[in-house]
Amino acid sequence: MKLILTSIVSLTIGFGCIAQSKNNKATDALKKETAASMQSNYGEYKKIALTIWDYAELGFKEEKSAALLQNTLKDNGFTVEAGVAGIPTAFVATYGSGSPVIGILAEYDALPGLSQDNSPTKTASANHTSGHACGHNLFGTGSVAAGIAVKKLLKTGKLKGTIKIFGCPAEEGGSGKVYMVREGLFDNVDVALHWHPSDDNLVTNSSSLANISAKFRFHGIASHAAGSPEKGRSALDAVEAMDHMVNMMREHVPQETRIHYVITSGGKAPNVVPDFAEVYYYVRNPAKTEVVSTFERIKKAAEGAALGTETKMDFEIIGGAHDLLINKTLVANMQINLEKVGGVTYTDDEVAYAKKMQATFTDKYAPINSVATVKPISIAKTLGSTDVGDVSYAIPTVGLRAATWVAGTSAHSWQAVASGGTEIGIKGMMVASKTLAFTAIDLFTNPDLIKKAKEEFIEAKGDYQYKALLGDREPALNYRD
Ligand SMILES: [Zn+2]
Repeated sequence: MKLILTSIVSLTIGFGCIAQSKNNKATDALKKETAASMQSNYGEYKKIALTIWDYAELGFKEEKSAALLQNTLKDNGFTVEAGVAGIPTAFVATYGSGSPVIGILAEYDALPGLSQDNSPTKTASANHTSGHACGHNLFGTGSVAAGIAVKKLLKTGKLKGTIKIFGCPAEEGGSGKVYMVREGLFDNVDVALHWHPSDDNLVTNSSSLANISAKFRFHGIASHAAGSPEKGRSALDAVEAMDHMVNMMREHVPQETRIHYVITSGGKAPNVVPDFAEVYYYVRNPAKTEVVSTFERIKKAAEGAALGTETKMDFEIIGGAHDLLINKTLVANMQINLEKVGGVTYTDDEVAYAKKMQATFTDKYAPINSVATVKPISIAKTLGSTDVGDVSYAIPTVGLRAATWVAGTSAHSWQAVASGGTEIGIKGMMVASKTLAFTAIDLFTNPDLIKKAKEEFIEAKGDYQYKALLGDREPALNYRD
C-alpha cells in the first residue's frame, strides 16, 4: 500500500515538472539575475537594517524607521501612501500597474525593556531602553529589499503587474495589520508574502495562536493606609482579586489556552491606598472562538473583582489577531525557492561569536552550522501570535523564517537583539529577502499558481466571515505609553 501511494505521488510531481519546465528555465534566469543584483546592494540594506536596529522604536511610534523605509522605496520609484488606516507609521508603497498584484509585508517595531548592544554577552545598550528582540529591523528592511528587486524586473518589462510593500507598524501587541485589513487595503491584492527572523530556515507551514489583549483598569478610593484604611477602597486589591480568579480559571479552560498578564499600575506608595490600578492581559488559543469565549470569562472575573472590592472597572481591548491560515500551494512553491537560495554561512569570526553566545543558553540548542541548512516542509510547534493571521484571512498568504539569529536563540531575548545588530542578522535577512523575491517572480510569471492558491484559500476559509477580534476600536496609538 505504501509503495503504491509513493508512486502515485511521484507521478503527480512528475507531470507538474513537465508542465512547468519551460517556465522554470526563464524564471531561473530571472532569479539568478535578481539574487546577484540584491547581493550587490548588500551594503546598503545592511546600513538600513542596522539604522532601524539602532532606532529601536516601539509600536505606533516608529516614525524614523517608517520614514527611512518609505524614503528608500521612494528613491527606487515607488509611490508611497503614508499614514494609512488611521496610523501615522503605516504605509503602502506601490510600483507598476495591472495584475497580478503581489504584496510584501514589512514590520519595524521594537520591544520595550530589552536593551542590548550587539555583543554575544548580556550588555545593555547605552543608547536606548528598548530593543529589536523580534528582529523587525531585519523584517522591514528585507521585505523592502525584495520589493525593490521585483520593481527592477517590472521596470525593465521582464515582469508585468504591480508590487506593493505594506509598511505594518506595531506587530508586537498593537495589531497594526488588523486595522489595515479592516480598512480594505488588501482587497485588490492577489497574494501576500511575509517572513520572520529566526534561528533556522523554514517555510511557515503551521498556524499561530489567535489572541485578544486588553487592559483592565480599576478605580478605588485613596486614603491613609494606616490612619484611615476603612475609608479607602484599593484598586490594587481588585487587580489581585481578578488575577487570583483568572489563575484558578486556568484549570477550567482548554489545554491549548494561554493566559498571561502584567500589572502595569499597582499604586505608588504602600502608605497610600491605591485609587488606581491596571492589569494588562493576553489570552490565546489556536481557535479564535475559544479566545472570544475565554475573554468573556476573564471579563466576568474583572467584574467580580470590582464588585467584591467596591471599586469601579473599565477595560480597553488593545489588540486581537487571527490564527494564521496556511496555504499549502504557496508553501510548496516557497520551499523550492528557499532551497534555491540556501542557508547562511558564517565566517570564522561569526562562528566565534556564535560559540560565545551559545555558552549563555540554558536550554539545549542546535549546532552552529545548522543555519546553513534549509528544513523540509513540516508542522512546527508555533505558540506565538501574529497579526499576519488577519492578512491570511483576507488573501492567500505565505511566509518563511530565516536564520538571522545564532542557533538556539529564542525570540524576545537579549540574544535576538544582539545577533540582529550584526552581520549574522543581515546574512539571514538576505536569505529571506531573496526567497520573497524568487516567490514573487513565480507568482508574476505563473498565473496558475495564483489561481490554485486562491482556490485553496476559498476552500480553507469556508463560510467564515472575517470580523476583527479587536472589534471596531480605533488604533491604540498610545498602547506603549
Ligand atoms: Zn516578530
